[in-house]
Amino acid sequence: MTTSTDLTRQSAARLAELLAAGEVSSQEVTAAHLERMRSVDGAVHAYLHHNDDQAMAVARDVDQARRRGDALPVLAGVPVAVKDVACTIGQPTTAGSRILQGWEPPYDATIVTRLRAAGMPILGKTNMDEFAMGSSTEHSGYGPTGNPWDLRRVPGGSGGGSAAVLASFTAPLAVGSDTGGSIRQPAALTGTVGAKPTYGGISRYGIIALASSLDQIGPCGRTVLDTALLHDVMAGHDPRDSTSIDAPVPPVVAAARRGDVAGMKVGVIRQLSGAGYQPGVRARFDEAVTLLSELGAQVIDVDCPHLDYALGAYYLIMMSEASSNLARYDAMRYGLRVAPDGVAVPSAEQVTAASRGAGFGAEAKRRIILGTYALSSGYYDAYYGQAQKVRTLIARDFAAAFAQVDVLISPTAPTTAWELGAKVEDPMAMYLGDVATIPSNLAGIPGISVPVGLADEDGLPVGLQVLAPAMADDRLYNVAAAVEKALVAQWGGPLSDRVPDLTAAVPTATTSTVQES
Ligand code: GLN
Repeated sequence: MTTSTDLTRQSAARLAELLAAGEVSSQEVTAAHLERMRSVDGAVHAYLHHNDDQAMAVARDVDQARRRGDALPVLAGVPVAVKDVACTIGQPTTAGSRILQGWEPPYDATIVTRLRAAGMPILGKTNMDEFAMGSSTEHSGYGPTGNPWDLRRVPGGSGGGSAAVLASFTAPLAVGSDTGGSIRQPAALTGTVGAKPTYGGISRYGIIALASSLDQIGPCGRTVLDTALLHDVMAGHDPRDSTSIDAPVPPVVAAARRGDVAGMKVGVIRQLSGAGYQPGVRARFDEAVTLLSELGAQVIDVDCPHLDYALGAYYLIMMSEASSNLARYDAMRYGLRVAPDGVAVPSAEQVTAASRGAGFGAEAKRRIILGTYALSSGYYDAYYGQAQKVRTLIARDFAAAFAQVDVLISPTAPTTAWELGAKVEDPMAMYLGDVATIPSNLAGIPGISVPVGLADEDGLPVGLQVLAPAMADDRLYNVAAAVEKALVAQWGGPLSDRVPDLTAAVPTATTSTVQES
């Protein structure tokens, strides 16, 4: 008999097998995760909204269909958590912002429609930096998420919630979004797996936009195979998204099952693996490079000289697009509406100004102001225009690199998880954490982060990033699976087995109060 704790520890692939064999029901699996959520999420705060009744209703329907003998999709009955950036009918969707508090969309994002069609109960919506702006989840309008490895530390961001549900075993799978690293960097900081597909590989219809030329939806899991299975459910052409690629989905699941790098050419990006990395991150990365050679890959150093300018170009382009996308929050059509103080009959402009003042957090305001400045007529050519030229040079660097190698690698993030509060007042320090992830968003190419161990100095997870050419997402999964297979064998089990027991944990912010009483 499988206990409910056991069920929350299983991979999604294993749960799918147990469900298909009739050994467990989706109601048992879903209830186990909801129970785990009740016992630990008060301390982790990875969820913004729970969806217990709807999740259990879907589980019941799937169980019935299975009993009837219906042919069901692979992940039918396996629950999933969704970043609060995706519209869900009848459930709050806030993108982590107070300006959307209580808003319930009248339609589902395409990826949500696909999760529902796949028979996957949606457990709830996960916490995130406001409008996906940030690298720590501390810019959420609803309070930060703790890193399950150490609740006093950040889980990364903006998708810290989607990574933390996996590391705290309150969901077997989660959906994220990645504009400059928001899937991969939280995966690295929590010892989980996260992939940013090729730009246009997964529909963004119904996804709340941050920077439309960079945003990409993607899958998060505790294993490479789980991540590929979720990728496959969500991917594929969507006529409702004009940037959606109308081509066959790369064979990601087969690649994740293969995990064989013999004969592959792997390039170490010189610009992303030199100075500036924490020693423990560097050490695990160097070992991963050696491991890839031992597994039969040919590893060479590759130069992408313009990557040195990627961070500057990214923050200009991202802020410019964000300032334009966020103009829709005008308090007229939906979301928060605040009456200005001391005005008997306020004008529309006064209501918009008061609502934005109250509803947007400091980071959103900072980006709107800087983005508007960069796009203004006097500065457009000097800032936005220049950044777009740099972007082209970066894409060319990648194209030249992929003429020599099949995939490129780097550490996913320069450091392990830092303490809550350490960088929140220092935007530049926060932005520097994205140095390795943002170049691929600028070029539209896919990337994945896979755990490669714990840093010696702090015992916290380190991620390896793998990048591939556009529409070669399957290569990411193949390389990540090879690394995972070898390391899990070395470790004697997955890294996530070593996450501390959280059942006695209390919310970070209230720890002292609870201890005193
Ligand atoms: N941390 C980056 C930023 O703040 C990336 C965010 C993201 O990928 N959504 O913009």
